[in-house]
Amino acid sequence: VNRIVSRLIGVFAVCAVFGCAAARAQTPDAAQRAQARAILEYSVNLDTSVEGRRTPELARYLADQFRAAGFPAGDITLIPFEHIQTSALVVRLRGDGGGGRPILLLAHMDVVPARRADWERDPFTMVEENGYFYGRGVYDNKAGIAALVSTLIALKADGFTPARDLILVLTGDEETLGVTSTSLLRDHRALIDGEFALNADAGGGGRDERTGAAVSYFMQTAEKTFASFTLTARNEGGHSSAPRPDNAIYDLVDALARVRAYQFPVMWNDTTLESFRAAAPTAEGELGEAMTRFAQRPGDQRASHILSASPSTLGQIRTTCVPTLLEAGHADNALPQSAVATVNCRIFPSVPIAEVQAQLQRLAGARIAVAPLTDGYIASDASPLRDDIIDAVAAAVRANYPGLQVVPSMSAGATDGVFFRAAGIPTYGVDGIFIKDSDDFSHGLNERVPVDSFYANLTHWRVLLTTLAGRR
Ligand SMILES: [Zn+2]
Repeated sequence: VNRIVSRLIGVFAVCAVFGCAAARAQTPDAAQRAQARAILEYSVNLDTSVEGRRTPELARYLADQFRAAGFPAGDITLIPFEHIQTSALVVRLRGDGGGGRPILLLAHMDVVPARRADWERDPFTMVEENGYFYGRGVYDNKAGIAALVSTLIALKADGFTPARDLILVLTGDEETLGVTSTSLLRDHRALIDGEFALNADAGGGGRDERTGAAVSYFMQTAEKTFASFTLTARNEGGHSSAPRPDNAIYDLVDALARVRAYQFPVMWNDTTLESFRAAAPTAEGELGEAMTRFAQRPGDQRASHILSASPSTLGQIRTTCVPTLLEAGHADNALPQSAVATVNCRIFPSVPIAEVQAQLQRLAGARIAVAPLTDGYIASDASPLRDDIIDAVAAAVRANYPGLQVVPSMSAGATDGVFFRAAGIPTYGVDGIFIKDSDDFSHGLNERVPVDSFYANLTHWRVLLTTLAGRR
């Protein structure tokens, strides 16, 4: 992390591009703040879950905002996905091309369903209270949408011509199928082709529970691959008064015992080592020492042993597979004809899904059939740690929180980022919202985002984009 710590202080990086007076002007004015809040409120008030199906309406509304701001119609592309009742929106802010290939800006318009009866307030009416915005999607991912949309509009209004195209890609089913991402990458590649992507649906900072001060910033550079498998034992069954030597439940239990005893190999990448170096000083006791040791001597046996014993770090150095569901038998007085366990795996980046399935099959043995629970799982590599991007993210973070360190991190997954990484577009989760652990209600009840952090995120994105797409 020394490499990262020693990077430019945020203000210097911005000054290099704009001059220092301009650096101060990176804070959004009252008009942009009001517009960003209005976009957030309008977005939250539309139920864009698979139940509410109002994502196409949100896409049209956002397209209107760009039209009203003077973006040419040819640079605003609405792509309907009628069979799944959603839409994608792609908007291009044209650059002069001097700074290289386009940068993609990702966020998703859909949300996880929310039930009015379970919430304290109507989840689809945004409320500002006690320093928070409340509502389904305020955090995941509509604050990101409001920041990206209002920043692009403000940059255009300021007459900023980026040195490279900035392409906003808003997807419409991140929380469910990922069809919009998959299809954009397959069928509309020219429209959304870029050198790398910045994802507003990942990354972010932590705040102290007591004081609210910003204490950490994580930039997501890798996601583990999500895949579930069924382990199925079949048997002729029969009357339970006459047990046979073979039995579907015993066979399955024996197989699961072997899965339990097995550990996938220890692995690491640049992100693993950087994140351990950064986390070691604040980690408790031997865990901190193990992180330091692992970062110095990747794969070290003793360190791996300690890290594997803790649920918080086990998944950082290994693929993990664990049973999550069981279904077996059909009557209390009959021998089971089938027994099925679902095993959920979080696969280390760059490991093929088929390799994990083959390992489970070896463990389960010939009496058990191992198969993916559904198809369409996608594996992706870690994105490379690039100095220019890390510097720009550090500049953005420090514009709000001077001196704070940027730590690359691998998340247990998964966002739309996996599709873009799998398609060869390195993707970085770099949103600038800071919350306390106790504020994290994404996907859950009473989702909220701190009002001050929502506005600080506008500065974050402006510094990030003007640094990466400014003139050098
Ligand atoms: Zn999300």
